[in-house]
Amino acid sequence: MRNIENAFYIGNNRAMISLGPLTDKKYCPYSCAFCYVKSGFEKYIKLKIDDILVFLEKNREKYDIIYISGDTDSFAPPRTEKAIELIQRISENIDVDITFTTRTIFNEENLNKLKKINDFMKSKNHKLIACISISRLYSASFLEPYPIPAPLDRITMLKKLKENGLNTILATRPFLPIIKPEEYIEIIKKSKKYVDAVLGEIWYADQKLINDVCKNNDIRNINFIDKTMDFDNNNKIWKCYEAKEIVEEVTKYCKDNKILFFMRSHPAIEYIRNNY
Ligand code: SF4
Repeated sequence: MRNIENAFYIGNNRAMISLGPLTDKKYCPYSCAFCYVKSGFEKYIKLKIDDILVFLEKNREKYDIIYISGDTDSFAPPRTEKAIELIQRISENIDVDITFTTRTIFNEENLNKLKKINDFMKSKNHKLIACISISRLYSASFLEPYPIPAPLDRITMLKKLKENGLNTILATRPFLPIIKPEEYIEIIKKSKKYVDAVLGEIWYADQKLINDVCKNNDIRNINFIDKTMDFDNNNKIWKCYEAKEIVEEVTKYCKDNKILFFMRSHPAIEYIRNNY
């Protein structure tokens, strides 16, 4: 069980934090069908921004980058402004790079706030890296139900964030057995001018998630391997879809088009931190 001392996950030099569960009953404003958080991920604690800063200061020697990510989309309405305030307060109080992940759409006012924070962080030689998740383009809309913004609107968001000077990552993740490699490649094709790197990821599932996502698809030939997570404290053995065919085709497309592609966020973030 998490407590205030152990409110978030810190490991591999990264502090992974969030605004915590949206309510007692709902951890995230969105409800992605494939989301592993509902299936055994050790949820973070909901803290005020001041208390998140205390936690980060207390553990300062254990990380060199902060991920605002993890167990909820902190940037989705109704918490968009609060999550941006969290980035701003961290940037003003801690000398550190920050990356954040979301599926949300920022309005012009919020884009402008992010631009200002990014300009401020750049002046201190720090990076603000925006990672936008897009898990499908035209098929299986039930995977990312309303109110999750349409995939094309999220691609426009990558464009706007890039135009505002932020480093950007497209996260086509997780790779799912019911989406064809061509669909992931299409997402990358449409986004490639606006991103510094592309991420894929294996899918951490259990039997319930597999049923929810794969529904009537024939998955008898799909291989799921047993694995624990190395980015969370839970001890669960997950059924993982490694997506070998998708990885192979996406890797080839990205190589042919000189796009940086990674299956883990850590090397992508490190590349951007060291080369941009
Ligand atoms: S946005 Fe992220 S945390 Fe929220 S439901 Fe989707 S995958 Fe889960």
